Amino acid sequence: TLSDRLTSVLQNLRGKGKLTDADIDATAREIRIALLEADVALPVVREFIAHVKERAKGAEVSEALNPAQQVIKIVNEELIGILGGETRRLSLAKTPPTVIMLAGLQGSGKTTLAGKLAMFLKKQGHAPLLVACDLQRPNAVTQLQVVGERAGVQTFAPEPGNGVGDPVDVARRGIDEAKHAQHDIVIVDTAGRLGVDEELMKQAADIRDAVQPDETLFVVDAMIGQDAVSTAEAFRDGVGFTGVVLTKLDGDARGGAALSVREVTGQPILFASNGEKLEDFDTFHPDRMASRILGMGDMLTLIEQAEQAFDQDQAEKAAAKLGTGQLTLEDFLEQMLAVRKMGPIGNLLGMLPGAGQMKDQLANVDDKHLDRLQAIIRGMTPAERADPKMINGSRRSRIAQGSGVSVREVNDLVNRFFEARKMMQQMAGRFGFGGGGSATK
Ligand code: GDP
Ligand code: MG
Repeated sequence: TLSDRLTSVLQNLRGKGKLTDADIDATAREIRIALLEADVALPVVREFIAHVKERAKGAEVSEALNPAQQVIKIVNEELIGILGGETRRLSLAKTPPTVIMLAGLQGSGKTTLAGKLAMFLKKQGHAPLLVACDLQRPNAVTQLQVVGERAGVQTFAPEPGNGVGDPVDVARRGIDEAKHAQHDIVIVDTAGRLGVDEELMKQAADIRDAVQPDETLFVVDAMIGQDAVSTAEAFRDGVGFTGVVLTKLDGDARGGAALSVREVTGQPILFASNGEKLEDFDTFHPDRMASRILGMGDMLTLIEQAEQAFDQDQAEKAAAKLGTGQLTLEDFLEQMLAVRKMGPIGNLLGMLPGAGQMKDQLANVDDKHLDRLQAIIRGMTPAERADPKMINGSRRSRIAQGSGVSVREVNDLVNRFFEARKMMQQMAGRFGFGGGGSATK
């Protein structure tokens, strides 16, 4: 996976003060392979790598981040940029109803999306109407009606009986019905084929011309991988669209399709679907998708926060010590205070992949608790702080008395410290925190 690749690349970058051209080229090669593995289309990968290289070469040496973290940061920022930066919202018509048309291959999730979107909009106080313009499959209309009922919205459908109706006519009458019954939003569900074909495109284009949508959403299954590009191009040319909805993100797709579709068509991704239930739906967040494609968990958020909270000296000192396992209680205290600036400690630890155990360790460390820990450490002699192993039973009770806590609390702190030191040593090895590279085995 990309995560593994980046981790190994970043291992190699550890300990270097500055990004050299050779470093950047080597990193770029790995990221390129990894993006292809995540199903990003080749031309998109090329473009992306070019951006990253350019930026990395011109990058100033960061005060707060080591070169490895700096590369992740640049890659992440470029990804977010391509995925659309800020989340875009639906644009609503000045005079209602707002017409939203759904287009996409059969099975991409249009009908399901119609229900999800309707429920989403209803919760925001809108009164959506679903319009059933998929008259291709016998049960498509019923499927939309069922979905509409679940979402608690009305569905406009052709009268049963007299054969296959005309979807364009249904679309037109659906809009009239919306105006008449004061629905402020109309969601038009359309038919899809398994592959792109002329007839389908023509029908979708005719519906488009009849209803003049304010938004045409191209619905695409995230699992289709490389095919996303050709499908998106076909719909762009055949119908045109103003936004993209990615579905089936609950599957194991890495999200490469998102990057490809966005880059090739220039249209923003508005929503993401991640399951069959109506609730499995959210507005699209480029930053979350970027970290999914990178597979780095919330490591990225951690980097961001580290950048804000750590000053260089402290980071270097701590990193060197983390790597060699020479962390003292004094450092521990400093780290805790630095970490405190970064937000609730539980959140922070949760962001570190693989730090689950440590999170449990410190799960109940809130700010008040932190104050007590601070008091305990301040109640120790410098020698004890530097070499916590020497803190025996009688020292523990002295420290407890001096800082006004129970012996148990002192025991807890000391034990937790040893656990944390062990854990941090392991993490330093895994994620290249050690600026000096001294943790390499
Ligand atoms: P349409 O042909 O484009 O209208 O697609 P449908 O809405 O009928 O969806 C096709 C199938 O995909 C159905 O079985 C849906 O339940 C399923 N589906 C739709 N969206 C999602 C999703 O986000 N995740 C998963 N796992 N399944 C989905
Ligand atoms: Mg359908």
